[in-house]
Amino acid sequence: MRLVFLGPPGIGKGTQAKILCQRITIPHLSTGDMLRDVISTKSDLGKEARTYMDRGRLVPDDVILGMVEERLQQPDTHGGYLFDGFPRTLPQADGLNELLSQINQNLDTVVALEGEDEILSERLSNRRTCGSCGAITNLLNSPSREEGKCDQCSGELIQRDDDQPNVIRERLKVYKRQTEPLIAYYAERDQLIRINGVGTIEEVTARILENLPKEE
Ligand SMILES: [Zn+2]
Repeated sequence: MRLVFLGPPGIGKGTQAKILCQRITIPHLSTGDMLRDVISTKSDLGKEARTYMDRGRLVPDDVILGMVEERLQQPDTHGGYLFDGFPRTLPQADGLNELLSQINQNLDTVVALEGEDEILSERLSNRRTCGSCGAITNLLNSPSREEGKCDQCSGELIQRDDDQPNVIRERLKVYKRQTEPLIAYYAERDQLIRINGVGTIEEVTARILENLPKEE
């Protein structure tokens, strides 16, 4: 099964992607992990990606696509995979189509997790990250046992800059402008399933599994 996961910040896309990959045993290809991998190889592409990351810039579409192309040559992807965080823009989606047609593959399904802005803002603004180990908790649905302290390592829980209200509004805006057009793009190609992303982790996983095409 070859899947793409789309969803706004705060919807729990990464969490659901990980769970699904374990359930159906396919590799989880997140943009962050792929970037770390390609940089660690010190290839030309890795060096190029690094210069953007070091300057805090967005990595351009052609570098992302080059990285995806390399990743799809690894044998663990031959039985399927799930893209999380890619494609993020229409040019990336076009690039992916081209890439897949060159290697005679097709996406099976694009899963779009959806939720209202107010709910996403509320979730993100209640998110706390451990300053020591990076564990994430949420004051709403998974508060730490001791207020302000990480359950894993007792480190201090902080609110990342990314999760401050003004930054949240900006992140949601960027998603709408840059990534939401992909929903119409994949709907036109009959590859899209929309999933209500609001609920417990288990409820949302069950909805996704129910709606995935059955494998022959
Ligand atoms: Zn911690």
